[in-house]
Amino acid sequence: MKAAIVNKDHSVDVKEMEIRAIQAGEALVEVSHCGVCHTDLHVKDGDFGEVPGRVLGHEGIGTVIEVADGVTSLKIGDRVSIAWFFEGCGVCDYCVSGKETYCRSVKNAGYSVDGAMAEKCIVTADYAVKVPEGLDSAAASSITCAGVTTYKAVKVSDVKPGQWLAIYGVGGLGNLALQYAKEVFNAKVVAIDISDEKLALATELGADMVINVKNEDPEKVIQEKLGGAHAAVITAVSKGAFNQAVNSVRAAGRVVAVGLPSDSMDLNIPKLVLDGIEVVGSLVGTREDLREAFQFAAEGKVVPIVHNRPIEDVNDIMQEMIDGTINGRMVIDMSL
Ligand code: NAD
Ligand code: ZN
Ligand code: ZN
Repeated sequence: MKAAIVNKDHSVDVKEMEIRAIQAGEALVEVSHCGVCHTDLHVKDGDFGEVPGRVLGHEGIGTVIEVADGVTSLKIGDRVSIAWFFEGCGVCDYCVSGKETYCRSVKNAGYSVDGAMAEKCIVTADYAVKVPEGLDSAAASSITCAGVTTYKAVKVSDVKPGQWLAIYGVGGLGNLALQYAKEVFNAKVVAIDISDEKLALATELGADMVINVKNEDPEKVIQEKLGGAHAAVITAVSKGAFNQAVNSVRAAGRVVAVGLPSDSMDLNIPKLVLDGIEVVGSLVGTREDLREAFQFAAEGKVVPIVHNRPIEDVNDIMQEMIDGTINGRMVIDMSL
Protein backbone atom coordinates (compact mmCIF):
# COMPACT_ATOMS: atom_id res chain seq x y z
CA MET A 1 0.00 0.00 0.00
CA LYS A 2 0.95 3.67 -0.38
CA ALA A 3 1.98 5.48 2.84
CA ALA A 4 3.67 8.73 4.00
CA ILE A 5 6.77 7.55 5.86
CA VAL A 6 9.31 9.50 7.95
CA ASN A 7 12.95 9.23 6.82
CA LYS A 8 16.10 9.34 8.99
CA ASP A 9 16.89 12.83 7.65
CA HIS A 10 13.48 14.16 8.80
CA SER A 11 12.03 14.26 5.29
CA VAL A 12 8.84 12.38 4.38
CA ASP A 13 8.42 10.05 1.41
CA VAL A 14 5.24 8.65 -0.05
CA LYS A 15 6.12 5.08 -0.93
CA GLU A 16 4.85 1.52 -1.17
CA MET A 17 5.00 -0.69 1.93
CA GLU A 18 3.59 -4.00 3.12
CA ILE A 19 1.03 -3.97 5.91
CA ARG A 20 1.13 -6.89 8.38
CA ALA A 21 -1.83 -9.19 9.12
CA ILE A 22 -4.17 -8.12 11.94
CA GLN A 23 -3.89 -9.77 15.36
CA ALA A 24 -6.31 -10.39 18.23
CA GLY A 25 -8.24 -7.26 19.21
CA GLU A 26 -7.43 -5.43 15.99
CA ALA A 27 -9.28 -4.26 12.89
CA LEU A 28 -8.09 -3.22 9.44
CA VAL A 29 -9.32 0.15 8.17
CA GLU A 30 -9.33 1.40 4.59
CA VAL A 31 -8.43 5.05 5.09
CA SER A 32 -10.39 7.67 3.13
CA HIS A 33 -9.09 10.90 4.73
CA CYS A 34 -6.32 12.09 7.04
CA GLY A 35 -5.78 15.70 8.09
CA VAL A 36 -2.25 17.09 8.37
CA CYS A 37 -1.69 18.39 11.91
CA HIS A 38 1.21 20.57 13.04
CA THR A 39 2.11 17.67 15.35
CA ASP A 40 3.06 15.68 12.21
CA LEU A 41 5.77 18.29 11.65
CA HIS A 42 7.03 17.87 15.23
CA VAL A 43 7.04 14.07 14.78
CA LYS A 44 8.91 14.05 11.47
CA ASP A 45 11.43 16.58 12.85
CA GLY A 46 12.12 14.27 15.81
CA ASP A 47 10.89 16.84 18.38
CA PHE A 48 9.55 14.04 20.60
CA GLY A 49 12.25 11.48 19.62
CA GLU A 50 13.45 10.01 16.33
CA VAL A 51 10.94 7.78 14.48
CA PRO A 52 12.43 6.77 11.11
CA GLY A 53 10.20 4.36 9.19
CA ARG A 54 7.02 5.49 10.95
CA VAL A 55 3.83 6.06 8.94
CA LEU A 56 2.52 9.54 9.91
CA GLY A 57 -1.07 10.56 10.52
CA HIS A 58 -3.49 10.85 13.45
CA GLU A 59 -6.50 12.59 11.91
CA GLY A 60 -7.55 9.45 10.08
CA ILE A 61 -11.03 8.40 8.99
CA GLY A 62 -11.84 5.19 7.17
CA THR A 63 -14.01 2.13 6.86
CA VAL A 64 -13.44 -1.16 8.63
CA ILE A 65 -12.72 -3.91 6.08
CA GLU A 66 -11.58 -6.73 8.38
CA VAL A 67 -11.89 -7.56 12.09
CA ALA A 68 -9.98 -10.13 14.13
CA ASP A 69 -11.87 -13.10 15.62
CA GLY A 70 -13.54 -12.15 18.88
CA VAL A 71 -13.75 -8.39 18.20
CA THR A 72 -17.21 -7.15 19.17
CA SER A 73 -16.78 -3.36 19.26
CA LEU A 74 -16.44 -2.96 15.49
CA LYS A 75 -17.86 -4.63 12.42
CA ILE A 76 -17.02 -4.53 8.73
CA GLY A 77 -18.45 -1.35 7.18
CA ASP A 78 -18.18 0.83 10.31
CA ARG A 79 -16.73 4.30 9.75
CA VAL A 80 -14.09 5.01 12.41
CA SER A 81 -11.36 7.44 13.43
CA ILE A 82 -7.62 6.91 13.91
CA ALA A 83 -6.56 9.43 16.56
CA TRP A 84 -3.35 10.40 18.38
CA PHE A 85 -4.77 8.59 21.44
CA PHE A 86 -4.51 5.21 19.71
CA GLU A 87 -4.59 2.90 22.74
CA GLY A 88 -4.23 2.94 26.54
CA CYS A 89 -3.52 -0.01 28.86
CA GLY A 90 -7.13 0.09 30.04
CA VAL A 91 -6.40 -0.74 33.69
CA CYS A 92 -4.16 1.96 35.22
CA ASP A 93 -5.39 4.90 37.35
CA TYR A 94 -5.38 7.22 34.33
CA CYS A 95 -7.26 4.79 32.14
CA VAL A 96 -10.02 4.14 34.68
CA SER A 97 -10.44 7.72 35.92
CA GLY A 98 -11.24 9.62 32.72
CA LYS A 99 -7.61 10.57 32.03
CA GLU A 100 -6.75 7.82 29.57
CA THR A 101 -4.69 10.08 27.29
CA TYR A 102 -2.11 10.27 30.12
CA CYS A 103 -1.76 6.46 30.41
CA ARG A 104 1.94 5.73 30.90
CA SER A 105 1.69 2.85 28.39
CA VAL A 106 -0.19 4.90 25.79
CA LYS A 107 0.26 4.30 22.06
CA ASN A 108 -0.03 7.23 19.66
CA ALA A 109 -0.96 6.88 15.99
CA GLY A 110 1.61 8.27 13.59
CA TYR A 111 4.24 8.43 16.34
CA SER A 112 4.67 5.25 18.42
CA VAL A 113 2.57 3.11 16.05
CA ASP A 114 1.93 3.47 12.31
CA GLY A 115 -0.71 6.06 11.52
CA ALA A 116 -3.33 6.96 8.95
CA MET A 117 -1.49 8.72 6.13
CA ALA A 118 -1.75 5.49 4.19
CA GLU A 119 -4.22 3.49 2.17
CA LYS A 120 -4.77 1.16 5.13
CA CYS A 121 -4.25 1.30 8.87
CA ILE A 122 -4.49 -1.29 11.65
CA VAL A 123 -6.42 -0.10 14.73
CA THR A 124 -7.04 -1.49 18.20
CA ALA A 125 -10.76 -2.09 17.77
CA ASP A 126 -11.92 -0.92 21.20
CA TYR A 127 -10.14 2.41 20.78
CA ALA A 128 -11.35 3.40 17.30
CA VAL A 129 -14.22 5.85 17.85
CA LYS A 130 -17.13 5.59 15.41
CA VAL A 131 -18.04 8.59 13.28
CA PRO A 132 -21.71 9.62 13.53
CA GLU A 133 -23.86 9.56 10.42
CA GLY A 134 -24.30 12.94 8.81
CA LEU A 135 -20.72 14.06 9.42
CA ASP A 136 -18.69 13.83 6.24
CA SER A 137 -15.32 12.12 6.43
CA ALA A 138 -13.12 15.11 5.55
CA ALA A 139 -14.77 17.19 8.30
CA ALA A 140 -14.60 14.25 10.72
CA SER A 141 -10.89 13.97 10.01
CA SER A 142 -10.28 17.51 11.26
CA ILE A 143 -12.29 16.79 14.44
CA THR A 144 -10.21 13.64 15.16
CA CYS A 145 -7.28 15.74 16.42
CA ALA A 146 -7.81 19.50 15.98
CA GLY A 147 -11.46 19.34 17.04
CA VAL A 148 -11.27 17.03 20.02
CA THR A 149 -8.09 18.68 21.30
CA THR A 150 -9.60 22.15 21.32
CA TYR A 151 -13.02 21.00 22.53
CA LYS A 152 -11.20 19.41 25.48
CA ALA A 153 -8.95 22.44 26.01
CA VAL A 154 -11.96 24.77 26.23
CA LYS A 155 -13.56 22.32 28.69
CA VAL A 156 -10.34 22.37 30.75
CA SER A 157 -10.25 26.21 30.65
CA ASP A 158 -13.52 26.14 32.63
CA VAL A 159 -14.67 29.29 30.81
CA LYS A 160 -18.31 30.04 31.62
CA PRO A 161 -21.01 31.38 29.28
CA GLY A 162 -20.47 35.08 28.66
CA GLN A 163 -16.88 35.05 29.92
CA TRP A 164 -13.86 35.94 27.77
CA LEU A 165 -11.56 33.28 26.37
CA ALA A 166 -8.32 34.35 24.67
CA ILE A 167 -7.30 31.97 21.89
CA TYR A 168 -3.67 32.29 20.82
CA GLY A 169 -3.25 30.93 17.27
CA VAL A 170 -6.23 30.45 14.96
CA GLY A 171 -4.74 27.82 12.65
CA GLY A 172 -5.92 24.23 12.22
CA LEU A 173 -6.62 23.88 15.95
CA GLY A 174 -7.44 27.46 16.81
CA ASN A 175 -10.29 27.94 14.32
CA LEU A 176 -12.03 24.95 15.91
CA ALA A 177 -11.23 26.18 19.45
CA LEU A 178 -13.01 29.37 18.45
CA GLN A 179 -16.04 27.53 17.11
CA TYR A 180 -16.38 25.22 20.13
CA ALA A 181 -15.90 28.17 22.52
CA LYS A 182 -18.60 30.22 20.78
CA GLU A 183 -21.13 27.62 19.68
CA VAL A 184 -20.88 25.01 22.44
CA PHE A 185 -19.57 26.85 25.53
CA ASN A 186 -21.21 30.20 24.72
CA ALA A 187 -18.06 32.14 25.64
CA LYS A 188 -16.83 35.44 24.24
CA VAL A 189 -13.64 35.04 22.24
CA VAL A 190 -10.64 37.23 21.58
CA ALA A 191 -8.57 35.61 18.82
CA ILE A 192 -4.86 36.38 18.58
CA ASP A 193 -2.60 35.51 15.63
CA ILE A 194 0.21 36.91 13.51
CA SER A 195 -1.71 36.63 10.23
CA ASP A 196 -4.43 39.01 9.03
CA GLU A 197 -5.95 36.24 6.84
CA LYS A 198 -6.40 33.96 9.87
CA LEU A 199 -7.87 36.81 11.88
CA ALA A 200 -10.28 37.63 9.04
CA LEU A 201 -11.40 33.99 9.18
CA ALA A 202 -11.73 34.29 12.98
CA THR A 203 -14.00 37.31 12.54
CA GLU A 204 -16.08 35.38 9.99
CA LEU A 205 -16.38 32.53 12.50
CA GLY A 206 -17.73 34.91 15.15
CA ALA A 207 -14.69 36.12 17.14
CA ASP A 208 -15.78 39.05 19.32
CA MET A 209 -12.35 40.68 19.09
CA VAL A 210 -9.19 39.97 17.07
CA ILE A 211 -5.62 41.07 17.71
CA ASN A 212 -2.67 40.83 15.33
CA VAL A 213 0.43 40.49 17.52
CA LYS A 214 2.46 42.19 14.80
CA ASN A 215 0.48 45.41 15.22
CA GLU A 216 -0.73 45.39 18.82
CA ASP A 217 0.37 44.09 22.21
CA PRO A 218 -2.27 41.50 23.17
CA GLU A 219 -1.47 41.67 26.91
CA LYS A 220 -2.06 45.42 26.98
CA VAL A 221 -5.19 45.42 24.78
CA ILE A 222 -6.83 42.52 26.65
CA GLN A 223 -6.07 43.97 30.10
CA GLU A 224 -7.18 47.48 29.14
CA LYS A 225 -10.30 46.60 27.18
CA LEU A 226 -11.52 43.50 29.02
CA GLY A 227 -9.87 43.72 32.43
CA GLY A 228 -8.10 40.52 31.42
CA ALA A 229 -9.54 37.36 29.87
CA HIS A 230 -11.11 34.77 32.20
CA ALA A 231 -9.07 32.04 30.53
CA ALA A 232 -6.72 31.42 27.61
CA VAL A 233 -6.03 28.51 25.25
CA ILE A 234 -2.69 28.55 23.44
CA THR A 235 -2.40 26.69 20.15
CA ALA A 236 0.38 28.89 18.72
CA VAL A 237 3.73 27.18 18.23
CA SER A 238 5.58 30.06 19.85
CA LYS A 239 7.07 30.66 23.29
CA GLY A 240 6.05 34.32 23.06
CA ALA A 241 2.37 33.39 22.87
CA PHE A 242 2.67 31.33 26.07
CA ASN A 243 4.13 34.27 27.96
CA GLN A 244 1.56 36.68 26.51
CA ALA A 245 -1.28 34.33 27.48
CA VAL A 246 -0.19 34.32 31.14
CA ASN A 247 -0.12 38.12 31.11
CA SER A 248 -3.47 38.50 29.35
CA VAL A 249 -5.66 36.58 31.83
CA ARG A 250 -7.17 38.25 34.90
CA ALA A 251 -6.42 37.15 38.49
CA ALA A 252 -7.45 33.53 39.09
CA GLY A 253 -7.48 32.99 35.31
CA ARG A 254 -6.56 29.66 33.81
CA VAL A 255 -4.09 29.25 30.94
CA VAL A 256 -4.42 26.04 28.93
CA ALA A 257 -1.27 25.03 27.03
CA VAL A 258 -1.91 23.06 23.84
CA GLY A 259 0.74 24.11 21.29
CA LEU A 260 4.02 22.21 21.40
CA PRO A 261 7.00 24.48 20.65
CA SER A 262 10.20 22.75 21.88
CA ASP A 263 10.85 25.48 24.40
CA SER A 264 10.35 26.66 27.99
CA MET A 265 7.99 29.43 28.98
CA ASP A 266 8.75 32.17 31.51
CA LEU A 267 6.64 32.10 34.62
CA ASN A 268 7.10 34.96 37.05
CA ILE A 269 6.62 33.40 40.49
CA PRO A 270 5.15 36.44 42.32
CA LYS A 271 2.74 36.92 39.38
CA LEU A 272 1.72 33.27 39.55
CA VAL A 273 1.20 33.35 43.32
CA LEU A 274 -0.22 36.83 43.90
CA ASP A 275 -2.62 36.60 40.94
CA GLY A 276 -3.49 32.94 41.52
CA ILE A 277 -2.87 32.11 37.85
CA GLU A 278 -3.29 28.47 36.84
CA VAL A 279 -1.23 27.06 33.97
CA VAL A 280 -2.27 23.62 32.81
CA GLY A 281 -1.39 21.40 29.87
CA SER A 282 -4.08 19.61 27.87
CA LEU A 283 -3.43 16.62 25.64
CA VAL A 284 -5.90 15.68 22.86
CA GLY A 285 -9.06 14.12 24.39
CA THR A 286 -10.45 10.81 25.57
CA ARG A 287 -12.62 8.56 23.42
CA GLU A 288 -15.64 10.08 25.13
CA ASP A 289 -14.40 13.62 24.38
CA LEU A 290 -14.03 12.60 20.73
CA ARG A 291 -17.59 11.20 20.62
CA GLU A 292 -18.88 14.51 22.01
CA ALA A 293 -16.71 16.59 19.67
CA PHE A 294 -17.97 14.54 16.67
CA GLN A 295 -21.57 14.97 17.77
CA PHE A 296 -21.38 18.79 17.89
CA ALA A 297 -19.92 18.73 14.38
CA ALA A 298 -22.60 16.31 13.17
CA GLU A 299 -25.21 18.75 14.51
CA GLY A 300 -23.58 21.55 12.50
CA LYS A 301 -22.58 23.64 15.55
CA VAL A 302 -18.95 23.34 14.48
CA VAL A 303 -17.98 23.30 10.81
CA PRO A 304 -14.37 22.30 10.07
CA ILE A 305 -12.76 24.26 7.25
CA VAL A 306 -11.08 21.61 5.12
CA HIS A 307 -9.32 21.48 1.78
CA ASN A 308 -8.80 18.05 0.19
CA ARG A 309 -5.39 17.15 -1.25
CA PRO A 310 -3.68 14.04 -2.64
CA ILE A 311 -1.18 12.20 -0.40
CA GLU A 312 1.63 13.12 -2.79
CA ASP A 313 1.21 16.76 -1.58
CA VAL A 314 2.20 15.90 2.01
CA ASN A 315 5.56 17.72 1.88
CA ASP A 316 4.01 20.76 0.18
CA ILE A 317 1.30 20.86 2.86
CA MET A 318 3.92 20.79 5.62
CA GLN A 319 5.78 23.66 3.96
CA GLU A 320 2.53 25.64 3.65
CA MET A 321 1.97 25.02 7.38
CA ILE A 322 5.44 26.39 8.18
CA ASP A 323 4.76 29.38 5.91
CA GLY A 324 1.44 29.96 7.69
CA THR A 325 -0.59 30.04 4.49
CA ILE A 326 -3.24 27.42 5.38
CA ASN A 327 -6.66 28.64 6.46
CA GLY A 328 -8.30 25.74 8.34
CA ARG A 329 -6.94 22.26 7.61
CA MET A 330 -5.39 20.44 4.66
CA VAL A 331 -6.82 16.93 4.51
CA ILE A 332 -5.27 14.11 2.53
CA ASP A 333 -8.03 12.51 0.47
CA MET A 334 -6.94 9.00 -0.52
CA SER A 335 -9.27 9.03 -3.53
CA LEU A 336 -7.35 11.89 -5.21
P1 NAD B 1 -1.16 25.51 12.67
O1 NAD B 1 0.18 25.75 12.08
O2 NAD B 1 -2.30 25.16 11.79
O3 NAD B 1 -1.61 26.77 13.54
C1 NAD B 1 -0.75 27.54 14.33
C2 NAD B 1 -1.29 28.97 14.35
O4 NAD B 1 -0.54 29.76 15.26
C3 NAD B 1 -1.21 29.66 12.99
O5 NAD B 1 -2.45 30.27 12.68
C4 NAD B 1 -0.12 30.70 13.19
O6 NAD B 1 -0.29 31.84 12.37
C5 NAD B 1 -0.32 31.02 14.66
N1 NAD B 1 0.84 31.66 15.31
C6 NAD B 1 2.15 31.46 15.07
N2 NAD B 1 2.89 32.25 15.88
C7 NAD B 1 2.01 32.93 16.65
C8 NAD B 1 2.15 33.88 17.69
N3 NAD B 1 3.35 34.29 18.11
N4 NAD B 1 1.04 34.36 18.28
C9 NAD B 1 -0.19 33.97 17.88
N5 NAD B 1 -0.38 33.06 16.89
C10 NAD B 1 0.71 32.56 16.30
O7 NAD B 1 -0.93 24.35 13.76
P2 NAD B 1 -2.03 23.41 14.46
O8 NAD B 1 -2.20 22.17 13.66
O9 NAD B 1 -3.18 24.24 14.85
O10 NAD B 1 -1.19 22.96 15.76
C11 NAD B 1 -0.80 23.94 16.71
C12 NAD B 1 0.08 23.33 17.80
O11 NAD B 1 -0.73 22.48 18.63
C13 NAD B 1 1.24 22.45 17.31
O12 NAD B 1 2.38 22.67 18.16
C14 NAD B 1 0.72 21.04 17.50
O13 NAD B 1 1.74 20.10 17.67
C15 NAD B 1 -0.05 21.23 18.79
N6 NAD B 1 -1.05 20.20 19.06
C16 NAD B 1 -1.22 19.87 20.35
C17 NAD B 1 -2.17 18.94 20.70
C18 NAD B 1 -2.40 18.59 22.13
O14 NAD B 1 -3.05 17.58 22.40
N7 NAD B 1 -1.94 19.38 23.08
C19 NAD B 1 -2.96 18.33 19.70
C20 NAD B 1 -2.76 18.72 18.38
C21 NAD B 1 -1.80 19.67 18.06
ZN1 ZN C 1 -3.44 3.01 31.28
ZN1 ZN D 1 -2.81 16.48 15.91
